[in-house]
Amino acid sequence: MPIYEFECEECGACFEELVTAGTTAAPCPECGAGRTRRLISAVSPPGRVPRGARVRADESRRRDREAARQDRLLESRKRRAAGERP
Ligand SMILES: [Zn+2]
Repeated sequence: MPIYEFECEECGACFEELVTAGTTAAPCPECGAGRTRRLISAVSPPGRVPRGARVRADESRRRDREAARQDRLLESRKRRAAGERP
């Protein structure tokens, strides 16, 4: 039996399922929905690209937070400097 890759139309999960040839849908292991579609390509793991994109998004969010923190630090330092001078 071939292994096919499916994508859940309910929650978007990708999973591999051992099914008989010709099967076009398998229940989603994540949410149990029956509305899944078989992916044509099985060359690369489908989870790889989204995962990488998520990591990059996390990384840029972290940089944004860091930048905002620096801004606040700079701002409070400026305010303090302004307050100290009459
Ligand atoms: Zn699902």
